[in-house]
Amino acid sequence: MTKLSIIAPIYNEEDNVKPLCERLFEVLKDLGHTFEIIMVNDGSTDTSMDKLTEQSALRPELKVVDLRRNYGQTAAMMAGIDHANGEIIIPIDGDLQNDPADIPRLLEKLDEGYDVVSGWRRDRKDAAIRRNFVSRVANRIISLVSGVHLHDYGCSLKAYRREVVKDVKLYGEMHRFIPIYATWLGARVTEIPVTHHPRIHGTSKYGLNRIFKVVLDIIVIRFLDRYFTKPIHLFGGFGILSILISILSGMYMIYLKIFEGIAMILTPLPLLTVITLLIGIMSILMGLLAEMIVRTYFESQQKSTYLLRNVLNNDGTS
Ligand code: UDP
Ligand code: MG
Repeated sequence: MTKLSIIAPIYNEEDNVKPLCERLFEVLKDLGHTFEIIMVNDGSTDTSMDKLTEQSALRPELKVVDLRRNYGQTAAMMAGIDHANGEIIIPIDGDLQNDPADIPRLLEKLDEGYDVVSGWRRDRKDAAIRRNFVSRVANRIISLVSGVHLHDYGCSLKAYRREVVKDVKLYGEMHRFIPIYATWLGARVTEIPVTHHPRIHGTSKYGLNRIFKVVLDIIVIRFLDRYFTKPIHLFGGFGILSILISILSGMYMIYLKIFEGIAMILTPLPLLTVITLLIGIMSILMGLLAEMIVRTYFESQQKSTYLLRNVLNNDGTS
C-alpha cells in the first residue's frame, strides 16, 4: 500500500472547493491506498479559506496550507509538495478542470516503472485560439528546446514519485517544467491522455501575457541545462565572437583608409569596432563573474555537479 499526496492550489475557487473535495474522496477511497489531500490556499480574497476550513473539519485526510498572500500557482504547488509525505505526489487543478477519475490511470502507468506520468489534455476545453492554439505552439517549442517530448506541459494533473520532485526547487512559473528537470535527474517520464472539463465556477487566473513568460522560462531552462556548470562557455563564446567582429571591422576600416583613401570617420566602422570590442570584453568578464557565482552555489552548499544512481561495491575491500 502506497501513500498518495494529492495537491491542489486554490486561488479564489470558493464554489469549487466543496465539489472538488467530494470528487477526490469518492475516487480515492476505493483505490486501496492511503492518501492525504493537501489544498494550498494561495491568498484567496473570496471565501475559499472558509470553505477549506469547513471541509478540513469534516475530513481528517484533508490538510489545508494557508499562504499569507497570493504567491502564484508554482509557489502554491511548492508549498504543497513541502508539506506532502506521500510516496506518490499528484498535483491537480483546484478548479475541477482536471478529472479526479484519471488518478487511478496515472497510478497504473507509474506502476509500469515510470517515475513521472504527465497528463495530456488531448481534448482541451478552453478558448480555442487564445488558449488552445497558443498553448499548442508553446508546447511544441518547449518540446523542441528541452528535448523532453510531451504534448502538454501545462496540464497540472501529473503523478510523480516522491524522489523526483523532492529535490526540485521551483522558481517563477516553472511548475510546468518539472518533467524536464526530472528527466535531467534521470527519471523515466511518460504521458497519458486525460479528460479536461470546461471551467464551471470562477474564472481563469491567466491571460495572454503568459506566453511571454513561458518563452523566457524556456530560455532559462535551456541555459541551466547546458551551461549551468560552465557559464563562461556561453558568455565567453559570445564575447569572443563580438571581439572577432570588432577586429574584422577594425581591419576593414584601416584597409579603406590606406588603400581607398576613405576617412575612417566617414564610415560607421569606428563605432562598430569600439562597441563590439566593449561588448566582447564585458561578456567575458560577466562570464568570469558567473563562474564565481556557480562555485559559490555548489561549494557553499556542498552540492555536487553530478548525480549518482548507484555505486557497486562501494565499501568493498579485498
Ligand atoms: N492558482 C493559484 N494561484 C494563482 C493562480 C492560480 O493557486 O495565482 C490556481 C488556481 O486556483 C487553479 C490552478 O492554479 O487551481 C490553475 O489556475 P487556472 O484554472 O486559472 O489556470 P488555467 O486552467 O486557466 O490554465
Ligand atoms: Mg483552469
